[in-house]
Amino acid sequence: MKLEKPTAIPTEELINALQCYGVRLIDPKAGTESRRGGAGPSDHKAITVDGMTVMVPVHTAPAFDSPYWVDKPDASGRSRLTREGATLGEISFPTRPRFYDLRTADGIPYSQIALLHGRDVLATTVLQTCIRYQSRSKACQFCAIGQSLAAGRTIKRKTPAQLAEVAAAAVALDGVTHMVMTTGTPPGPDRGAAILAESAAAVKAAVDLPIQAQCEPPDDAAWFVRLRDAGVDALGMHLEAVTPQVRHRVMPGKAQVSIERYFEAFAAAVPVFGRGQVSTYILAGLGDPPGAILRTCERLIDLGVYPFVVPFVPIAGTPLESHAAPSPSDVHEILKPLAAMLTKSGLAAVTIKAGCGKCGACSSLSTYERSLRDDLRAVQTVPTQ
Ligand code: SF4
Repeated sequence: MKLEKPTAIPTEELINALQCYGVRLIDPKAGTESRRGGAGPSDHKAITVDGMTVMVPVHTAPAFDSPYWVDKPDASGRSRLTREGATLGEISFPTRPRFYDLRTADGIPYSQIALLHGRDVLATTVLQTCIRYQSRSKACQFCAIGQSLAAGRTIKRKTPAQLAEVAAAAVALDGVTHMVMTTGTPPGPDRGAAILAESAAAVKAAVDLPIQAQCEPPDDAAWFVRLRDAGVDALGMHLEAVTPQVRHRVMPGKAQVSIERYFEAFAAAVPVFGRGQVSTYILAGLGDPPGAILRTCERLIDLGVYPFVVPFVPIAGTPLESHAAPSPSDVHEILKPLAAMLTKSGLAAVTIKAGCGKCGACSSLSTYERSLRDDLRAVQTVPTQ
């Protein structure tokens, strides 16, 4: 039976609401294990809404008060989504990946080396420590990279051999189609590019899996060629915030790397990886005005960089855990025109080879793009009189 599309609300707007408010699960064990702590967005769980698998907060402060509830799933993994008692429709949960049941020869669970993100993405944080995370005055205030390590849910450094072993299993057992390799920033001018390159080379030698690497801009643009030659297909260098005030407030250490330095690095990376294969992550809801985010996105798109704008999730245990999440209308105000800008420029989530922009689960941006494509197709197929 095909899943019904929940409600008459456009899917992208429903996803915005679920990602901004979070959901309350009647059965907290529903679906795959939720992600807690770690680099990037966290405290959420993958659910599938109208064919789009998205990450929805379940452990954040807003989620505990969310008006959206998800019933206990039936035997096939389907659940009823309700808002204040009214049924909105049906959602489903991706099944638990089989590679989670395996361990390395030295006894490390594969799930401590890499996780399934979204529906079919293998994601790992190669180095689970960061020069910026050591002190509160430098750490990015939204980041929880140390939490999963402190809780024993991951290991500090994933070796190339471990990553290759897990990637091969995740492809064979669970059909993952691309891989995200991020890293905490190590000391040294390459900003993590060297460990990402050796990790990508090992994975590519074991299995044919498109890889996105994510790091801060390395000192030397030659690293982009080295990463590509090692097997990296797409690159993410994440701005996170776009105005100087917000950057200094929420990421006092990383803000030392100026926006202009990022733009220099983008300009050097796009010719190496190709138009649309370099991306950046921007968090909506930290204080950057929507107009400032859209102006930065316009500049990025002109360079051939895909701006992946994601609603900010206030992760428990971080300095921003009590910061408000953005409202769904704030997110809509950015993502709707952004999807139109992307479509006009020819950049699209679906043509990215690997990574967060392609996965799209932390934002409804790719759903806005899908709706625009559907609208265009509908216009093109209207019979002429
Ligand atoms: S968008 Fe990136 S961080 Fe979010 S679930 Fe997908 S791979 Fe993970």
